[in-house]
Amino acid sequence: MKTEVKTLDFNTDWEYSPALESTDHIHIQEPTDLFISGEFIPGVRGKYFETINPANEEKIANVAEAEKADVDLAVKAARKAYDNVWSKMKPTERGKYIFRIARLIQERAREFAVIESLDGGKPIRESRDVDVPLSAAHFFYYAGWADKLEYAFPGRDAHPVGVAGQIIPWNFPLLMAAWKIAPALATGNTIVLKPAETTPLTAMKLAEIIQECDLPPGVVNIINGGGNTGQALVEHADVDKIAFTGSTEVGKFIMKTVVGTGKKYTLELGGKAANILFDDAPVDQAVEGIVNGIFFNQGHVCCAGSRLFVQENIAENVISKLKERMETLIVGDPLDKNTDIGAINSKIQLDKIKMYVDIGQKEGGSIFQSPCSLPKMGYWHAPTLFTDVSQSHRIVQEEIFGPVLAIQTFRTVDEVIMKANNTPYGLSGGVWTDKGSKIFSLSKKIRAGVIWANTFNKFDPSAPFGGYKESGLGREGGVEGLMPYVNLV
Ligand code: NAD
Repeated sequence: MKTEVKTLDFNTDWEYSPALESTDHIHIQEPTDLFISGEFIPGVRGKYFETINPANEEKIANVAEAEKADVDLAVKAARKAYDNVWSKMKPTERGKYIFRIARLIQERAREFAVIESLDGGKPIRESRDVDVPLSAAHFFYYAGWADKLEYAFPGRDAHPVGVAGQIIPWNFPLLMAAWKIAPALATGNTIVLKPAETTPLTAMKLAEIIQECDLPPGVVNIINGGGNTGQALVEHADVDKIAFTGSTEVGKFIMKTVVGTGKKYTLELGGKAANILFDDAPVDQAVEGIVNGIFFNQGHVCCAGSRLFVQENIAENVISKLKERMETLIVGDPLDKNTDIGAINSKIQLDKIKMYVDIGQKEGGSIFQSPCSLPKMGYWHAPTLFTDVSQSHRIVQEEIFGPVLAIQTFRTVDEVIMKANNTPYGLSGGVWTDKGSKIFSLSKKIRAGVIWANTFNKFDPSAPFGGYKESGLGREGGVEGLMPYVNLV
């Protein structure tokens, strides 16, 4: 018997009905104060700034801004908690607190996901399926290490470093907080964390959980503010370690500040990942991976596959399939479960993306953009690709941090390795091929911390992450992620 298989025609106008996630179940403190020594308190000078929803430019909450005096209060609280409680606590007990944080994130997963999408602009599907579960997984993973440090560092005694100052960006606010806080707690350090000024809210929700799970006051302190607040934390004399994730520009500045002070530091910085597609790869699967690699989270991903290298003989077919797929991407309300691409995080970031798109055209690149209609209010950018670009173009060399893909072709393996390595960055990369030998050969020759094979943007707490060259110093995640938070004797 013959079965008729019906195929869907994606070229017809196929509208999805809106599927909005509700905001009824979320609670945001108004105003949102600083979290110091286990309490929510206003700043010393009572200053507040607004955090807005980038999808409609409406204010969500007033957030207390920490100045130098507040940073000092937070560091003092962290020092006191370190000396009196946390560094003396049995590792098994420390582990229990971290497990508790992980479980409470899971319990409040919906609330976290909605707040993340409201404050940051990312689609709810991503906040719900990536950011929040991965954050909980990070706490679970490092909770498990708390009482097993002798296995992480056999034959050595691992001592905590002391007070860690941690500064994070806006692209994965809760997840970056988890990447920083979980290993620091597991190894016995206390913390002052500063989220990015455009996305403070999920970190402050995490502060509520930390209070709820009775973590001793001062073990984790969370303060908000912009570059000045971050700088005050970096310069504070009683901070023993700085963990920074953000731009290469600020990372270099931090490095200059801490060199010679005796502070430990790790830097997770920018990227310009090469996604390499060979003619023996399954093309449709690769196209899906390329789209995910650059348009996931509006391209606000340090490891985004922003440069595509396609083997010349399949380039025409791949580019045409990519354009077709881009036409079906849904740009719109981050809270709609159908949305593929949400809002750009801020006006500053949108202007930067537009500037690069302009530069790309002026330098002679051919542009293609999804023919989507963008909402009138808020910050939006259509998925964009450039062809007819070369290694010397700025959009091929510089990090854009938006949904903009630059495509080049190659003929040989040596050529593509040379091209892929020809940037100041070295955070991540991708290889698409049917041949395991090519995967192993390329992943050794491409100077990047992570190489994905026949997939992209996959994360796991047990896998270390970090960069070469101007993409950073040190590793986060995995056993390696414990190292920056210990002194080994
Ligand atoms: P940014 O460097 O502007 O800001 C990052 C954080 O640093 C924010 O909290 C900010 O307030 C703070 N800051 C700014 N100036 C400071 C100063 N002088 N001293 C101390 N702190 C200061 O970066 P961004 O625009 O928020 O984030 C985007 C960048 O982050 C991109 O370059 C991206 O590649 C990078 N990033 C890297 C990783 C990674 O793991 N390698 C992960 C996410 C983002």
